[in-house]
Amino acid sequence: MKNKERHVFLECTECRNRNYTTNKKPRADYKLEKSKYCRFCRKHTPHREKKL
Ligand SMILES: [Zn+2]
Repeated sequence: MKNKERHVFLECTECRNRNYTTNKKPRADYKLEKSKYCRFCRKHTPHREKKL
């Protein structure tokens, strides 16, 4: 049985810390990229998806 969604990390593109997890639909081929607050950089940075 397959899950309809899978978990991915959102990784800060500056410090490479994995600050968030999110769900992504398995058919979505695009790469998620979101501006999120990074507590290590102490500012908003682009966060890119990484697989668990
Ligand atoms: Zn960061």
